[in-house]
Amino acid sequence: MNLDTICVFAISKLGWIRQQQKKVREQEREPLREYLDRESRYVWGKRYLLKVIAKDAAPQVELKHSQLVLQVRPATGEDRKQAILEDWYRAQLKAAIPPPIAKWGPLMGVKVARFFVQRMKTKWGSCSLRAANIRLNTDLARKPRECLEYIVVHEMAHLLEPTHNSRFMTLMDPFRHRLRNPHFAQASVAGPSG
Ligand SMILES: [Zn+2]
Repeated sequence: MNLDTICVFAISKLGWIRQQQKKVREQEREPLREYLDRESRYVWGKRYLLKVIAKDAAPQVELKHSQLVLQVRPATGEDRKQAILEDWYRAQLKAAIPPPIAKWGPLMGVKVARFFVQRMKTKWGSCSLRAANIRLNTDLARKPRECLEYIVVHEMAHLLEPTHNSRFMTLMDPFRHRLRNPHFAQASVAGPSG
């Protein structure tokens, strides 16, 4: 496995691990929710129950409490529903990318010319050194926001250093320092983090 895959996996579990620790500490006993086995979708690391509503109007997607509500015209096919959801995920991700770029750019001394969002089968992100572009996997919108931030920082570091050498690790240091902050992954449970 490559470094990105391992880090995204670990970060994506941080919030969960801390939640479990908290539950054990508080001796909290929640009944198993009945919807656990029904169809669900992840958005920014949180699980939502997918609810499909048929309505003769323009399709829309909305997060309502613990539901991801997909409104489509009657008789909309399964492929089309998935495509509408995918577009929505892509829009979520596109809107979430500029803040970490704006935050880490000055700290790392990196300028990102453009970013792209696309489906990727084997990577979370990639970059083009010459064009100063970064590309991000649409699936990052399903992971906790910290995973997106990590990949953005990782690709930004690659704009200065193409390999994972010691210089690269030094560029990543401020972010790794932030990872050790106990509040780091809790932000994703409460909502968007800065
Ligand atoms: Zn890399």
